[in-house]
Amino acid sequence: MPYRAPVKDIRFILDHVVGFAEVAATPRFAEATPDLAEAILTEAGRLSTDILAPLNKTADRNPARLENGAVVSSPGFAEGYRAIAEGGWVGMAASPEHGGMGLPISLALGVDDMMSGACLALQLKPLLSKGQIEALEHHADDALKALYLPKLTSGEWSGTMNLTEPQAGSDVGALRTKAVPNGDGTFAITGQKIFITWGDSDITANVCHLVLARLPDGAEGTKGISLFMVPKFIPDAEGRLGDRNSLRVVSLEHKLGIHGSPTCVMEFSGAKGWLVGAPHKGMAAMFTMMNNARLSVAAQGVGVAEAALQHALAYALDRKQGATPVEGGGTIIDHADVRRMLAVARAEIFAARAIALSCAKAIDMASATGSPDWQARAALLTPIAKAYGTDVACEVASLGVQVHGGMGFIEETGAAQFLRDARILPIYEGTNGIQAMDLVARKMADGGEAAFRLIDEVERGAEAAREAHPDLAGEVWAAAEALREATEAMLALPLNDRFAGAVPYLRAFALVLGAGAHLKAMRADPAREALARVMIRRLLPEHAALLAQAKEGAAGLYAVGAEELAA
Ligand SMILES: Cc1cc2nc3c(=O)[nH]c(=O)nc-3n(C[C@H](O)[C@H](O)[C@H](O)COP(=O)(O)OP(=O)(O)OC[C@H]3O[C@@H](n4cnc5c(N)ncnc54)[C@H](O)[C@@H]3O)c2cc1C
Repeated sequence: MPYRAPVKDIRFILDHVVGFAEVAATPRFAEATPDLAEAILTEAGRLSTDILAPLNKTADRNPARLENGAVVSSPGFAEGYRAIAEGGWVGMAASPEHGGMGLPISLALGVDDMMSGACLALQLKPLLSKGQIEALEHHADDALKALYLPKLTSGEWSGTMNLTEPQAGSDVGALRTKAVPNGDGTFAITGQKIFITWGDSDITANVCHLVLARLPDGAEGTKGISLFMVPKFIPDAEGRLGDRNSLRVVSLEHKLGIHGSPTCVMEFSGAKGWLVGAPHKGMAAMFTMMNNARLSVAAQGVGVAEAALQHALAYALDRKQGATPVEGGGTIIDHADVRRMLAVARAEIFAARAIALSCAKAIDMASATGSPDWQARAALLTPIAKAYGTDVACEVASLGVQVHGGMGFIEETGAAQFLRDARILPIYEGTNGIQAMDLVARKMADGGEAAFRLIDEVERGAEAAREAHPDLAGEVWAAAEALREATEAMLALPLNDRFAGAVPYLRAFALVLGAGAHLKAMRADPAREALARVMIRRLLPEHAALLAQAKEGAAGLYAVGAEELAA
């Protein structure tokens, strides 16, 4: 079935669950009226459905390839990207000072969701440019901003992020790429980076690499890392492209999925680079890009899950197999277990979308008001949105294959592509394990204050729903209380014990937030009660088992020795 962009669902969540009106009420985002929000989401939905989605399967079968050291993109990607750039979608949240629209991240995230559902491999290209734009806006000097931001914002040039090296994955501080001053304010960058998404492109005139490297006086570890802009072609002061820089694509990776997205091994051989931000402060600058990208990856997860569910639903409505208990029902959708898979998938997608959009709202409110509370809310929600959204992508895509039965395992059906594409999402932009560790360590360095405020809010929502829906509201309230108690217990644990329980803790947190979102939704629209019931009665109960694991500590895990695992 062709993908249909879920404009209505995104609108509903923004209006009735997340409270987007609060963002639009700030002077900073006063232009984001309901009419404008509707127009933007509708137009992005049309682009996703009509132009991007038809490219998805073709790209899977015709991967990006390397010819004479240059990337050749999948068929149709140049046209698809042009439609994204010409529509102004790359610079939608970028500053108007350099040609952007300055719109809220809440709307941009809804757009990411739809474009990823339509064609994840292509959407990665503008995603990286958007992150780079934000990093430059915050950390680059005026000259770099004036040179790069207009071209990146218009989509004429594209951006990449270069962190990973063979020995430096999650441990970015282990990187070896060197930056040596040239004596004229520029730097010579030398080293190898691996897994660089869209590290080259025949679609954009220039590819601008943000590269992490170490200056000669840089300390060991993350403290000694600096950030550099290293363009493929060196522009003059007016942005006209000049000499080719000393960098090249060594090879492309052969991947499980996202075949249309070239994943490059990059070699920098004394390439000319410009420092972004202060020396040795590269990690802080790169974190701006990574945080932006982490939330966008959450939206990628929701988008792919949506596409996988739509695909499975179409099959379930068509495939006949055995007698069903529903009178007149003739297809597999009327078997209870198939209905369970589809309903659980829909409930999870709603929860993950609501969490991601709540995080986006917190970012918007923080930038519109400067409030530290909103900043802390955004920081807390980012790892939850990323890890839960991307786990849901894999779960739903796997359910999608299951709904198809044997045909799900056959490539022609298309269900398997969603599963293959989704599998990278819990890995890149910080694995979900690293996200969970971030949640229980750095994001709780405030003594859990931001977490407790969020739990309070879920409980207030449950109280408000108690009179009309005592059973469902009571269950959400009790789960939030259990999360509060587990959070207190986690905070009392040594760090490595927290880490041992971080993944189940994050999952339980997401289930509580997701259930709270469903409760809000059904209060706004009673027709949503059935789905809320699936979330609260079938998915939320898992929180108890997850929180029990969260508090269990590390000793029991280390007690299983490596030899025993090998036995
Ligand atoms: C398709 C693709 C696209 C990518 N795009 C980019 C890109 O554009 N730019 C870029 O710079 N990188 C990119 N990456 C790299 C990606 O971000 C890394 O693969 C990821 O950060 C994990 O690093 P790693 O692969 O070295 O795994 P490792 O760090 O070796 O991790 C292996 C396992 O150990 C766990 N682990 C590691 N350290 C810890 C710890 N301290 N505590 C607990 N568990 C730990 C991890 O969670 C994981 O399960 C991409 C990767 C892929 C596959």
